[in-house]
Amino acid sequence: MTSNLEETYSAPAPEGPPDTGDRPKVALAIAAHPDDADFGCAGTSNLWSKQGWDFYVLVCTDGSKGTEDAELTADRLVPMRQAEQRAASAASGVKEVFFLEGYTDGELDYSRELLGDVVRIIRKVKPYVVFTHDPTQIFHGNSFVNHHDHRTAGLIATDAVYPAARDRWNFPEQIDDEGLETHNVKEIFIWGSDKPTFTVDITDIVEEKIQALLLHTSQFGEGGEFMEFVRKRWKGEDGRFTEKFRRVTLVR
Ligand SMILES: [Zn+2]
Repeated sequence: MTSNLEETYSAPAPEGPPDTGDRPKVALAIAAHPDDADFGCAGTSNLWSKQGWDFYVLVCTDGSKGTEDAELTADRLVPMRQAEQRAASAASGVKEVFFLEGYTDGELDYSRELLGDVVRIIRKVKPYVVFTHDPTQIFHGNSFVNHHDHRTAGLIATDAVYPAARDRWNFPEQIDDEGLETHNVKEIFIWGSDKPTFTVDITDIVEEKIQALLLHTSQFGEGGEFMEFVRKRWKGEDGRFTEKFRRVTLVR
C-alpha cells in the first residue's frame, strides 16, 4: 500500500492536454494582474481553445499601479487595463475574463474574503484545469523576484482548488444563497516554476502570443526590446518555443 501511494505521488506528469473523460474541457487561469495570464499561458489557451477547450481568465487585482506616468491615475488606468486584458484574451482564444473588485495592485494580501471570491469563480466556471502563478517561488533563478501579488494569487488559487471550492462547508452561503455547487478541480498547471514538468510547444503560434501581449498597450507601448527579451526566454536550445508548467494532477 505504502509503495503504491509513493508511486502515485511521484508519478511523472502525463503528456498532452488532460483527458477529461466525460467532464467538459474547461480551463481557468487565475492571475494577479492584467497581462500575467498572457505571459503564463496565452499560447496554451490559443492552442487548446482550437481543440474544444473553453478557457476563462480571472484577474485578482485592479492593475492600478502598472504605470510610471504620474498623470495616469487609477480611475483612468484600471478600465484601460481591463479593456486591454479583454482584447488580449479574446486574441488568445479565451471566452471570458473576470475581474475581482476591491483588490489594489501591489496590495494583494491573503484573506478569507479573497479566498471566497476566487472560490466563487471556480464554482461558477467549473474548470477541469486551473492555471496560476507559483506560490512557492520567491526568486526566479538569480535575476528576478516573484512579485508579492503573484505569490498571493498563486497561493489563493491553490487553496481555492483544494480544499475550499471542493468542500461543502467552505463558503456554504455560496451554495445555500447563490445557487452554486461544490467543484472538484482535477489539475493545476503552474507557470513561472523553476521545476516545470510539462511543456506545450507554441512555436506555430508564438507570433500570435506576442501580438496578444502587445494589446496591453499601456504596458508595452514601445514593444520592441522587451518583446525580443521574452521571445528569447521562450525559445529552447532546439529552436522551439514553449510554455512550461509544473503540472499537478490531483488524485482525489
Ligand atoms: Zn503581474
